[in-house]
Amino acid sequence: MSGIDNLPPLREVIATHGLAAKKSLGQNFLLDLNLTAKIARLAGDVKTADVLEVGPGPGGLTRGLLAEGARRVLAIEKDPRCLPALAEISAAYPDRLEVIGGDALEVDPLAHLTPPIKIAANLPYNVGTELLVRWLTPPQWPPFWDTLTLMFQREVALRITATPGSKAYGRLALLAQWRSDPRIVLELPPEAFSPPPKVNSAVVHLTALPAPRYPADPATLNRVVSTAFNQRRKMLRSALKSLHPDIEDILQSAGIKPTERAEQVGLEAFCALARALDAAG
Ligand code: SAM
Repeated sequence: MSGIDNLPPLREVIATHGLAAKKSLGQNFLLDLNLTAKIARLAGDVKTADVLEVGPGPGGLTRGLLAEGARRVLAIEKDPRCLPALAEISAAYPDRLEVIGGDALEVDPLAHLTPPIKIAANLPYNVGTELLVRWLTPPQWPPFWDTLTLMFQREVALRITATPGSKAYGRLALLAQWRSDPRIVLELPPEAFSPPPKVNSAVVHLTALPAPRYPADPATLNRVVSTAFNQRRKMLRSALKSLHPDIEDILQSAGIKPTERAEQVGLEAFCALARALDAAG
């Protein structure tokens, strides 16, 4: 018995269903149910929310979320070998776990879940950043989710939470911090996973802000930030030259020294620059 439910230990689940980890699917499983329960708790109060889980694998985090009392869980798993193991969890928690076999990038969670919605996942590293960017740039804001609780490679977690002046600071930090409050809430060594990945991992908890932190048009902000960080070592007056012939004046009107470099400029100033560019036409 696992201690949190009446299902078999995860090592047994993996042996019974022949779930040898596949590198191509980013499979590094969490087998310690105490740890998956802890990650489920980091998602906040799941009792009053539906939870989207991407890549449940053999179901360690899924079991943690259900044992924590998640109202409903929608788990999307690409590897068909995992589906029988996940069906056993569905049977143990009637009407609370829906499993979809498929690619999380192609499923519309809103067709299956009712707000408030939390997203929790030990993400496949190969699609983790793509999913995060997608969740942070929906057609409408506020988004369909309230919180994201996501495992990343530690290096990606540092990029999400980075502040100006650090090497990790860039587009991901600006996007995440413009629209949410991201915090690293847990760090894990490779040995926490089976098989162990080559790098350290970290769980990031992001709370969606009701409105972006500072006003700016999303497309203009994205263009400014991408252009600035594409040439992060150049002074902004030359890195951003392609955006407007009067870029030096526009930078100054936004309170930014034209000789500064992208990695020295904070989120508030980038938003001011996006507004100034739009005003300049
Ligand atoms: N959540 C499990 C755990 O913590 O043990 C497994 C985590 S493992 C890092 C990532 C999981 O995501 C694998 O089960 C993999 O098959 C699945 N996966 C990979 N790409 C996916 C995709 N595009 N959509 C849905 N699941 C995917």
